[in-house]
Amino acid sequence: MLTTRITEFFSVERPIVQGGLMWVAKAGLVSAVSNAGGMGFMTALTFPDAESLRAEIRTCRSLTDKPFGVNLTFLPTLRPPDYSAYIDVCAEDGIRFIETAGRNPEKYLPRIKSAGIKVIHKCTSVRHALKAQRIGCDAISIDGFEAAGHPGEDDVTTLILVPLVRDAVDLPLIASGGFADGRGLVAALALGADGMNMGTRFVATREAPVHENVKQALIRHSEVDTRLIMRTLRNTERVLHSQAVDKVLEIESSGTPSIQDLIPFVSGLVGKEMLEDGDMNKGTLAAGQCVGLIRDIPTCRELLDRVMAEAEEIIKTRFGRMLS
Ligand code: NAD
Repeated sequence: MLTTRITEFFSVERPIVQGGLMWVAKAGLVSAVSNAGGMGFMTALTFPDAESLRAEIRTCRSLTDKPFGVNLTFLPTLRPPDYSAYIDVCAEDGIRFIETAGRNPEKYLPRIKSAGIKVIHKCTSVRHALKAQRIGCDAISIDGFEAAGHPGEDDVTTLILVPLVRDAVDLPLIASGGFADGRGLVAALALGADGMNMGTRFVATREAPVHENVKQALIRHSEVDTRLIMRTLRNTERVLHSQAVDKVLEIESSGTPSIQDLIPFVSGLVGKEMLEDGDMNKGTLAAGQCVGLIRDIPTCRELLDRVMAEAEEIIKTRFGRMLS
């Protein structure tokens, strides 16, 4: 058993967080992570409106009595969401933790905090972590360059970012980007974090509601098989290599495209279809470099048991032996 500021912050047994995963982090996966002792986060924008999020929160409650939270990402989007309505639902339905990401959540903090909800802000630089602490966020999740999805524009790896953020802020800290196993968890703790976030690793679990082809693709691809797209728009996204990704990169290399040029390939709705039908060349799938570490499709419980056993073995036995 590992007790850290993050296990205490969330009141969970294990310092492992499942970050927001668009179209994937629904009640089934989130409750499985929470039931396995980790902290699951449901991704609000996966649901077309606030009432659908409310229904999913209630489904999740019927599947677990353990804590879980809601991820709210503020990034450019093709279908602008009603963020306030999602926040109202979280407040009304007793959500105690919201993970904000993408942009400064300051505008929404008064409503969130007045409902007694704690905010974990996921960011990609020391300056953003400092800002998050200053505006009253309760915890920081720091995303290194290895991470899936939107790792920012600074390209600083987890190995550097985590200790820098640890030195800069006093809040409970979650390390994110590159994590898939118990070795990563020990490394995150050694770097000064209080827990680790896994995203891509959770897509290759039994409970992830995606086509089997998606899970097999994560096993088949290696650490060199991710690409950075939308850099020309300053909205960089790390995704798994595919024909659609090559097409996006080709368009980007030929000038300064607009989002309109890229929509046929990057649209979230195309990505959703791909996750359902398993046609991996259709759209883009956010994936981190840790894809190279994914070799199987366990249940969330098997995965978290294994991560914890590996971490405890390293700390007790390997490190213990080194010390003596
Ligand atoms: P979407 O269909 O709205 O957009 C597709 C992609 O294009 C996204 O990466 C988006 O950021 C980008 N985009 C849209 N409009 C843009 C613009 N004007 N300029 C630059 N880039 C633009 O995306 P979606 O898949 O339906 O997701 C909805 C939102 O959630 C997006 O902002 C997306 O980035 C974000 N997201 C969240 C998670 C998460 O885990 N919470 C993961 C991936 C994406």
